[in-house]
This record gives sequence, C-alpha cells and structure tokens, in this order.
Amino acid sequence: MAEYITEQKRTLKKILEDNCDRAYTVDELFCKMQALYPSKAPGKSTVYRLITHLVNEGAVKRFIKDGERKAAYQIVMGEHCDCHLHLKCTDCGKLIHLNDKISDELLSTVQSTSDFSVNEEATVLFGTCGSCKKHSER
Ligand SMILES: [Zn+2]
Ligand SMILES: [Zn+2]
Repeated sequence: MAEYITEQKRTLKKILEDNCDRAYTVDELFCKMQALYPSKAPGKSTVYRLITHLVNEGAVKRFIKDGERKAAYQIVMGEHCDCHLHLKCTDCGKLIHLNDKISDELLSTVQSTSDFSVNEEATVLFGTCGSCKKHSER
C-alpha cells in the first residue's frame, strides 16, 4: 500500500477513535477529513476503500443506521477500551462505550456480591439502544 494511503488510513482511524461513541457514514467521514485536512483529504471513493480496509482488519464495525439506508461505521476498540465495558445493540449494531467509572462500580459490585471477577475486555452486554427502543415503541 502506498505511503500516503497508510497515512490517510491512520488519520481516518484517529477520527473514529476520537469519536468512539459515534458512528459515521462515508459522507460524514469524507466531510470530516476535508474539514480537518483540507490539503491532503482523500476523495470519497478513497474514504470508502480505506474504511473497508479497517472493517476487514476488524478495527471498525459496519452497521445500518437506525431509520436510514446508509451504512455507518464505528471504531470497535478505541484507545481506552480496555478500561470499560461495552454495550451492544442487537437491533442496529451500535456499540456503546460505558463510562469507565460506572464500569468499575458495576464490576466491583459483581466481584463483592458473587466473588467473581469479570473479564472486562472480553465482556459485551447485549441489548437495545435508546433509539431502537423508541423506534419499536412507536
Ligand atoms: Zn470502548
Ligand atoms: Zn440500536
């Protein structure tokens, strides 16, 4: 892979890592890269190719945004992801990063009441996110 592609991929990953609780469409990522790096922003098709690379590497998760037809992308593991639990919506696939402090409290409660230490990195709580819940209640 050419040097500048690697650089752009790193930039794209950084954007997603800095916003690890959000999911972006290719259009949104393209706009974000243009705003941040006007001189070396890649074209939309390159952004699409780069994000596909990241999905194949397992760094980024692709899912369909609630109520929209477009695919959205979110980082799977950000920089501090070994310090908190993750919640995963089984409807839209959104990954929610639980607050570090709340994770610790939850895990220490489990530890003290059940004498069980949870593997934080390997644990994902499955359920329904706020927007999918609202959607199904309508
Ligand atoms: Zn996380
Ligand atoms: Zn959802």
